[in-house]
Order: sequence, then structure tokens, then C-alpha cells
Amino acid sequence: MITLALSKGRIFEETLPLLKAAGIEVLEDPEKSRKLIIGTTRPDVRVVLVRATDVPTYVQYGGADLGVAGKDVLLEHGGQGLYQPLDLRIAKCRMSVAVRDDFDYDKAVKQGSRLRVATKYTSCARDHFADKGVHVDVIKLYGSMELAPLTGLADAIVDLVSTGSTLKANHLVEVEHIMQISARLVVNQAALKVKRESIRQIIDAFASAIPAE
Ligand code: ATP
Ligand code: MG
Repeated sequence: MITLALSKGRIFEETLPLLKAAGIEVLEDPEKSRKLIIGTTRPDVRVVLVRATDVPTYVQYGGADLGVAGKDVLLEHGGQGLYQPLDLRIAKCRMSVAVRDDFDYDKAVKQGSRLRVATKYTSCARDHFADKGVHVDVIKLYGSMELAPLTGLADAIVDLVSTGSTLKANHLVEVEHIMQISARLVVNQAALKVKRESIRQIIDAFASAIPAE
């Protein structure tokens, strides 16, 4: 049996065409069913639904053989024990720094003031500001980062941005792009050895179906 870990929502939706290219179709719609384990048209392949941030953990410890996870999630996890053969170029967005539209970010940085930064991505945020030589206090949040600068919890946030409309609706502006984000295929290293044939076939089929840049 091959187990593939996916998260509901954009990762699941955007992985479907890649699965199809590998001759695999899921038998249930996760938005309609409450099932956490979904069968596929290939009796030896199943999909498990986990939180996006749990995908690397499942694959690392062998709860799943393969998984699809955003680069953001993989950087925060650290990627230990994971083979990352493919950038799938799906679920694309960017990781950015944003502040209130009335906050003078350049001035704050130039003056060397200590910035308070709220984010779910504490490790990426620390690395980014350390590279710039900016002193920061990083505040860990689990969601609704946009609220932090509006309530005075933080001066800036580090968050994922795709269209920018959520920032705009909350009177925030993007002041720095940290990196481009897309989802990667991750593979358990032991599974790759033990189930080499079937996992190779899936990796190759995914590779040939990756959307063009
Ligand atoms: P949840 O929404 O359940 O709290 P999550 O935010 O981690 O969890 P998703 O919103 O499904 O889960 O995002 C999964 C992945 O999709 C992210 O890790 C990221 O790589 C990618 N992604 C692409 N565009 C965006 C976006 N606009 N906002 C957030 N994530 C995005
Ligand atoms: Mg989300």
C-alpha cells in the first residue's frame, strides 16, 4: 500500500491533475465526506487528509509514504528525513513582510529600531531579519496575522500573499518579498527504498504533469 498525505483545500485540488497523470483518481470529495482516509482507483494507493503543517511530520515518521507540502511549511518543519524530489509548481504564492499603510517601515529599519513581527513563520522571519541585520521580536501566531498590526500587537507581519486583496482590505501594504512559495512533493526516505518501483512511477508521472512556468 502507498499512502499519500494531502491537506484539504488548494493543495488537494491542485494535486488532483497530477494524480490523474499518474493514473490515480480519488474516490471521494473531502469537502463532502468526513472521511480522513480516501481510496483511489488504484487499490494499492490511498490518500490521507491532514493539516497542511502536519504533512511533513506524517511523511517523516512514515505515517505516509509521500506528501505534498508548501515550501513555507517545509522550511518551518526543517525537512529532516524527507526526500524532496520535485517542485510541483502548484499552490503558488509569496512570503512577504507587510505593515499598516501609515507605518514608515523604511524609517523604522533605517533608525535601527527593534521591530515587533507577528507571524506563523517564525523561523523564516528570524532568518530574513537576521540577514538584513534588523533586530526583531518575533511573536508566534497561528492565524489571522493581518490583525496584529491593526491592534498594536506588532509593527509588521510575515505572511503568505497571493493577490494582495486580504492585505488591502485590512489597510496593510507589502513592503518586502521574502521568497516565492510553491508546493513540493516529499517522500519518506525508507519508503523510497522499500517501495522503490511504485514510488518511482508516481514521481515520474508527477514530474511529467507539472504545470509550465
Ligand atoms: P488552514 O487554512 O487549515 O489553517 P493552512 O493555511 O496551512 O491551514 P492552506 O490555506 O490550505 O492551509 O494552505 C496550504 C498551503 O498553500 C500553504 O502552506 C501555502 O504553501 C499554499 N498557499 C498558496 N497560496 C496561499 C495563500 N494565498 N494563503 C495561504 N497559503 C497559500
Ligand atoms: Mg489557510
